[in-house]
Amino acid sequence: MTDDLYLKFMTEKFGVEKKVIDAGIQAQKNILSMSKKIDSICEFNQMKILHAMQKNKLSDSHFNFSNGYGYNDAGRDVLEKIYCDVFNTEDSLVRINFVSGTHALACAFFGNLNFGDELIYISGEPYDSLKNIIQELIKRRIKYKKIELKNNKDFDLDAIKKNISPQTKIIAIQRSRGYSLRESLNVRKIGNVIKFIKKINPNIIFLVDNCYGEFVEEFEPSDFGADLTIGSLIKNPGGGIAKTGAYITGKKNLIKNCSCQLFAPGLEKELGASLGESFYNLYGLFVAPQVVSCALKTAIFAAEIFSMFDFEVFPKSSDNRTDIIQAVNLKSKENLIKFCEGVQKASPVNNFFTPTPEKIPGYDCEIIMAAGNFIQGSSIEFSADAPIRNPYTVFIQGSLTWFHGKNAVLIALDRLLNKKK
Ligand SMILES: *Cc1c(COP(=O)(O)O)cnc(C)c1O
Repeated sequence: MTDDLYLKFMTEKFGVEKKVIDAGIQAQKNILSMSKKIDSICEFNQMKILHAMQKNKLSDSHFNFSNGYGYNDAGRDVLEKIYCDVFNTEDSLVRINFVSGTHALACAFFGNLNFGDELIYISGEPYDSLKNIIQELIKRRIKYKKIELKNNKDFDLDAIKKNISPQTKIIAIQRSRGYSLRESLNVRKIGNVIKFIKKINPNIIFLVDNCYGEFVEEFEPSDFGADLTIGSLIKNPGGGIAKTGAYITGKKNLIKNCSCQLFAPGLEKELGASLGESFYNLYGLFVAPQVVSCALKTAIFAAEIFSMFDFEVFPKSSDNRTDIIQAVNLKSKENLIKFCEGVQKASPVNNFFTPTPEKIPGYDCEIIMAAGNFIQGSSIEFSADAPIRNPYTVFIQGSLTWFHGKNAVLIALDRLLNKKK
């Protein structure tokens, strides 16, 4: 009965062909064991967050509103303590004053690198927006090196060892693949490379761009000794509820340098009005494991159904994950545009908009972005982006609920397969 109702609604109201819906039912069956795995990771992370909230005696008095300088902001302070327990770190900055994840990364680099220091990225080319920051670091006489991954997936330990010098101050990695087809780096791999580097020189700061990775595994890079772990609140750890901001968590002295950079030397962590947002940041953190699990199920569902229709997918539906990104090679520009139009059509907000390819500063080709989000640019909400270049790969991420994610994939796939107008 319910299945009939669903089928009728999908065909009549959303115009999806029965063949696509049937494929969806099959794909959902095929991913059952992966879904169970995702649930058990979600359960562990949920209890980790609950425990951190209880340990820090979170109370409704923390849902305060601070203004002005923001001195004695109890909600902001408890949020940062809870992040420390969740990430297993000494100190945290979880602030709405960060305008984006890129801003938080910039504060960590500018706050901790001085004239003559060296930064080495050991996960290959970082994502596009970071290039402007690196150029600025170089202008300020900070040395920069980049080491490629071996076979697009493993740290090149020989090259790392050879390149470390007495000037090497920070070694950084990007956990997620970003807009590339290299593998994302799981926490075990990250832990091993941290051990390797600390043996060479324990004073090197190991920094992780953790965007899209939070709560995908049971552990975070900080559990294995990352000195600075950084991410965006409008991705995984904000749970779709946080409205803006980012976090940095790690060693106390390094966090102090980040807050000097974000605010001013001498002002630091005691300042920064949270304007009532701590409530949303706490609430978002609490639901984040569940939201991440919905995003992950959507990603493996997309991987499964696209491979059923002979598209190449990265990672495969049966692969273990360390971030929420799903890449699919759509073979042609037309497919790419049809799929992104479908993603937009399947969104709760702005579904009547049509995404179009556009030139964006920092990219060497046009980009198409589809998102009908509650929070602008939030990529924990179901969304898809694609640089328009061979092999026409679309990067799909997020979903606040599993059933929206699953059906949005079906609606977009239907539009692609049936060349709908
Ligand atoms: C999203 C993201 C960031 C931060 O980007 P913002 O849009 O500035 O928040 C950094 N690194 C990676 C890999 C990302 O995906």
